[in-house]
Amino acid sequence: MAPIAAGYEPVDFHPSRYTQPRLTNKQWVAGIIRSSGGISRSDLALRTGISKSGVAALVGELLADRLVDEVFEGGRTHDLERRRRSATLRAVLPDVLIGTIQFDHEGITVVIADMTCEPLGRAFAEARINTAPGPLFETAAGLLRGLLSTLERPEPLDAVVVALPGPIDKATGRVRSPSVLSAWSDTDPAEELGRRLGIPVHIDNDADLGAWGEFVEGAGRPFTDFLYVEASRGIGAGLVLDGAVYRGSAGIAGEIGHNQVDPAGPLCRCGQNGCIEVVASSGPVLAKLRAIRDDHAGALSLNDFVDGVSARVLREAGHTLGQVLAEACNLLNPQAIVIGGQLGSAHESYLEGIREAIRRYAQPVIADGLVVVAAGLGESSALTGSLIRARHLVFDHEFRLELGGTSLPRKAHGEVTVDTGTRAAGALV
Ligand SMILES: [Zn+2]
Repeated sequence: MAPIAAGYEPVDFHPSRYTQPRLTNKQWVAGIIRSSGGISRSDLALRTGISKSGVAALVGELLADRLVDEVFEGGRTHDLERRRRSATLRAVLPDVLIGTIQFDHEGITVVIADMTCEPLGRAFAEARINTAPGPLFETAAGLLRGLLSTLERPEPLDAVVVALPGPIDKATGRVRSPSVLSAWSDTDPAEELGRRLGIPVHIDNDADLGAWGEFVEGAGRPFTDFLYVEASRGIGAGLVLDGAVYRGSAGIAGEIGHNQVDPAGPLCRCGQNGCIEVVASSGPVLAKLRAIRDDHAGALSLNDFVDGVSARVLREAGHTLGQVLAEACNLLNPQAIVIGGQLGSAHESYLEGIREAIRRYAQPVIADGLVVVAAGLGESSALTGSLIRARHLVFDHEFRLELGGTSLPRKAHGEVTVDTGTRAAGALV
């Protein structure tokens, strides 16, 4: 199995038995369950070509070994067959803790979770991200250590994933940014944070992680090809193409925030005038809305603007972003655009503006059937994507340990029941 740190894998990736001749059927099936994040018995049979009774026997062994859990969605029933049909198999490592550090334009958020990606604790510190990163690394490491010490079982973290709203070189992990986040340019945040925390740390662009979160658990689930746009104080895109995150030759794909849309527009922090970020991100949109409402104290937040005039401002901002996205759609022909961040989760008018621009500027054959939806995970797409990625890293490590004849310690666990999640409603352009 290729190391996951080298890039994302499609969610249904499984190690090929032909390239991994050492795998037994049991290891093969265990690997598929792990990388899937959740799969039914019948899908396992479909993917492996193993008969249903064969799958049942293997799953029985994995359940007995406590390597997997069976999660029954939609409540409990005494009908065993019905329960099995609606059940999802998930890999379990009950003693493992994972963490994430999210840097954004508001500050630093850290979250610690178990292997179901269920957060066990969260901490936040306000910070100015466009400053020298040394003190920010100190704050982030201190925040994560502090949070860990408050947990009931403060065990060492097994994987930490960092999300950063800036371009990251996929070969070196260094920030490649002479214009945006210029104080961070050529730093290696994963190495810096890893040294402070004493564990390996992985880093990725926040929009790429947001795309991954939406693909596995959010509004991107029905699609193999879509654009995810993180529309908050900054604007960035993550691409899922052919069921995997596409990061470009250097890992910088999707940096659309500094596309110029108005040469006479306001000056941007990158030194150019009229970037999409200074026209259609949450900062300028909120400033406009507050000016209209004479909110001099800046007390109102995006969610407070629900009147017709506000809708117009939001629609216009969405339309401007939509022009940039229409060009990307002509190039990539995606099935959907998923809008995350503060603007995506708060306002239908913003999405309406994007849809209008797609209809107007994309080729009709491209716009036909293209869906523009709000992120299914609200403002937590990148956070969820980071935790899923951290879980994936642990599984990969664990999988290799197992092939080598050892594995991480395990504890007994019980059956889990979860509610059936609802998906974000789609809307046709
Ligand atoms: Zn700019």
